[in-house]
Amino acid sequence: MNDSAWERAAPRIGVLGGPERDRLAAAARHAATNLEVRGVVCVACTFVDNSGITRMKGVPVGRLDAAVVWGVGASPVFDAFGADDAIIAGRVAGGPVGDLRLHPDLDRLTALAAQPGWAWAPADRRDQNGKPHPQDARELVRVEATRLAARGLRVAMAFEIEWAVAPAGADGFTPAAGGPAYGMTRVAELGDYLRDVVAALTEEGLVVEQIHPEYAAGQFEVSVAAQDPLAAADTCVLVKETVRAVSGRHGLRASFAPKVLADGVGNGGHVHLSLWGHVDGVGGGGADGGGVGGGGSYGGGGGYGGGGADGAARLGGYGVGPGAAAAGTAAGARWNGGGRVNLMGGGGGPGGLTAAGEAFAAGILARLPALMTLGAPSVASYLRLVPSQWASAYACWGLENREAALRMIPGPPAAAGRAANLEIKCFDLAANPYLVAAGLLAAGHAGLDGEARLPPPVDVDPASLD
Ligand code: GLU
Ligand code: MG
Repeated sequence: MNDSAWERAAPRIGVLGGPERDRLAAAARHAATNLEVRGVVCVACTFVDNSGITRMKGVPVGRLDAAVVWGVGASPVFDAFGADDAIIAGRVAGGPVGDLRLHPDLDRLTALAAQPGWAWAPADRRDQNGKPHPQDARELVRVEATRLAARGLRVAMAFEIEWAVAPAGADGFTPAAGGPAYGMTRVAELGDYLRDVVAALTEEGLVVEQIHPEYAAGQFEVSVAAQDPLAAADTCVLVKETVRAVSGRHGLRASFAPKVLADGVGNGGHVHLSLWGHVDGVGGGGADGGGVGGGGSYGGGGGYGGGGADGAARLGGYGVGPGAAAAGTAAGARWNGGGRVNLMGGGGGPGGLTAAGEAFAAGILARLPALMTLGAPSVASYLRLVPSQWASAYACWGLENREAALRMIPGPPAAAGRAANLEIKCFDLAANPYLVAAGLLAAGHAGLDGEARLPPPVDVDPASLD
């Protein structure tokens, strides 16, 4: 457990060769200098455990190069921590023995807007030889995205973040804003706070698409632009931690718990996704082509555009490339279809789905019970999943049906299918977003393999059915 002793004694072994390591270290030093100029002192290297808790180890900015190349020591036992920090002794992980290394990803190195002096980078977890650790959920997302890329397919994804605020330090949970659902009153009550949330996220390079008061007292929601799945999961972590920090600066405590008050509406962690491929659907592309997709951006329901201005496709990229000299504000690649079309729209299937889009959605629907272990992993998750609260407790799909676990959003006809996306509504933010992203990609992929078809859509409140 004594990292500095280990640092001194450890043989410097890595999968990278010497020159690559040197280039990576140089890129890290360049990024560190940029951060220092902005007053950054420490970098938080984070990962998310199986309880959905973001855990971290910090390094002074001057140690960033060593952290990127050699990693920062951490015990694999973190994954066996419960939400209450109780350690579960597991078959694979759970004891005091062993170590893994956290390698901060320079591609996402970001100065934290609401925590002056701090920067953040999500960490890849590797073993002491530099190979991906079996418990690295970020790697799992890359693996699943790469499997799809081999078929010429990419997925655009975004997590919707809901949270509720109470006065900091108070016992229990008394909502800090009492105005009506979606009401402008809450902007009168907490307008400075909400402005600061948007300003901080924007300063961190994120593309905020919407912010609004949600149904429950003291509840709000922010949506950000779609990205490739790994970037979307990283962004989920950054948005939550930024909201938490801005809340603290306003004397508020933010809770992302699936249910904060037993008789109130809960906080969801809905995932929007769309599958992109070449016109013939599956198997058209082979290698990932890069380039910039055409099309505008549509701001509804999480926002899905055909392309962004950023041509730097990261999908399938492993680890940090030597050229990834982050300027310190990189938000990760924005969504870029790479010349592909959205297979969730413009097709002849139900709701305008193409055959591939339908198979992907059907793969997810068929595996929803298993996916719940990833997307709704806490006891409180099941307090949230009740009818008539838009938590979508029913394993069915429907067009624009907010009580269906899978809500198909076709988007406006004028957008010709570009905006179409599938919203997985039954998930919440107790989830590890990396496991959620990987699970959804794998389930959708299995649907493609089996050429799965959807059952008829449910076009009423499922609670009204016998
Ligand atoms: N707060 C609801 C939930 O628990 C979702 C409301 C909405 O549809 O945005 O998921
Ligand atoms: Mg909402």
